[in-house]
Amino acid sequence: MLDKIEKLSDILNESYSQKSLNSALDMFFKDNFGIKEFALNLENSKEQKTLTHSIPIYKHKKCLGSLEFSQTNPNLSQFLEICSGFISLKIQNILLNEKMQKDVNYHDTMKNIAKIIETQYELKYIIPIIGEMLDKFFENYLVYIFLRDESTGINVLSYPNDCKDEKILDAIKEHNETKLLSDGKIYAVPLICENKNVGSLVAKSTEDEINLKDREYMEQLANQMAITINRANVYAEILKHATLDALTGFYNRHQLEVRIKQEVSNAKRQHAPLCGIMTDIDYFKHVNDTYGHAAGDLVLKTIAKVIRGQLREYDIAGRYGGEEFSILLPFTKINEAQMVAERLRQTVENKVIDISKVAPDCEEKNIKITLSLGIYEIKENDSDDDLMKKADKALYQAKNTGRNKVVINND
Ligand code: GH3
Ligand code: MG
Ligand code: MG
Repeated sequence: MLDKIEKLSDILNESYSQKSLNSALDMFFKDNFGIKEFALNLENSKEQKTLTHSIPIYKHKKCLGSLEFSQTNPNLSQFLEICSGFISLKIQNILLNEKMQKDVNYHDTMKNIAKIIETQYELKYIIPIIGEMLDKFFENYLVYIFLRDESTGINVLSYPNDCKDEKILDAIKEHNETKLLSDGKIYAVPLICENKNVGSLVAKSTEDEINLKDREYMEQLANQMAITINRANVYAEILKHATLDALTGFYNRHQLEVRIKQEVSNAKRQHAPLCGIMTDIDYFKHVNDTYGHAAGDLVLKTIAKVIRGQLREYDIAGRYGGEEFSILLPFTKINEAQMVAERLRQTVENKVIDISKVAPDCEEKNIKITLSLGIYEIKENDSDDDLMKKADKALYQAKNTGRNKVVINND
């Protein structure tokens, strides 16, 4: 008996989840007591299995679940009399831990949604990032984010790319209050900030109905999202009139377009060469996913610095979008531009980025990334838009033919 108690004690020490405890106990009872079937039933276990012999597990007077056995024998009964208290204690511990972990994750998610706005104000980039955070948090549900189009007042799906569920689409069309649909399997919360409805957060369960605790989580997260989205809208409005991108210090998209127009017109007037370079970080999503958003931001800042360091004073750099930078090289022919781009590519490739401060929990301290680049030299008949559009076409080709390379568009 003593050796069995010791074995059980080892099992209890080594199990950290319901699942691992269940399978360890399963093996233990089968090997040591000749039990054919065993199950650990807890109120929140997915599969509840009822066998002929059931031993309830109590915490004070509350029943937490049961140990189920296909048969019993005197040895087992005696053993359980001594040990079921230990098992119950372990289960209480695991349940408490799981609950605490969910709360920790919830607070992390809240914090991250609030924090995003510090570096990003374009909803196009914010929403997928929030969507992925919510997917991770609500791992048992499908999460949808809708944004309200201010001009029409209609909610438009923003994350993920597709929603085929007519019930959801119908429910959020005009959506002003929280709704529970499909026997509790769909929960739709409007995103409201300062009395303004900016969209909807919807979760759909494919198995059980959405429980009360998760509905509360959703409502709180929806509040935080609404604040973040509202702030992004306000920022976007303000930044339309600003010129610099907050994260990199480069020209923002709007100002970049103004400068492109000017440079194209200058080049044409003076019959001077002008080249455009479009760059895009390779596998950048992977950086965010693996090391976190703060590491992603640091990479963006670092690349911006590298670009700045490689350019002449009168070259122009702008943040075209999330991780896409545009460079204008006035008085530069395509061969020289190619050299600039190639030097840039190599410098980025060799750059070691220390993420230890922004991602202290990551094992890796230093990471490296690569850049794909497309170049184009403007021609007499090209419009303002053509410069970057044609550079982008070359960039697209660089992406499709292996990345970490420079491609010229010779159109
Ligand atoms: P590819 O090599 O094809 O370019 O792959 P990719 O992963 O870089 O491409 P994709 O366009 O799918 O991903 C770009 C990612 O950039 C998505 C978004 O999460 C991230 N992103 C955009 N803006 C920001 C930002 O300001 N900060 C951070 N951390 N991430 C951003
Ligand atoms: Mg991109
Ligand atoms: Mg990219």
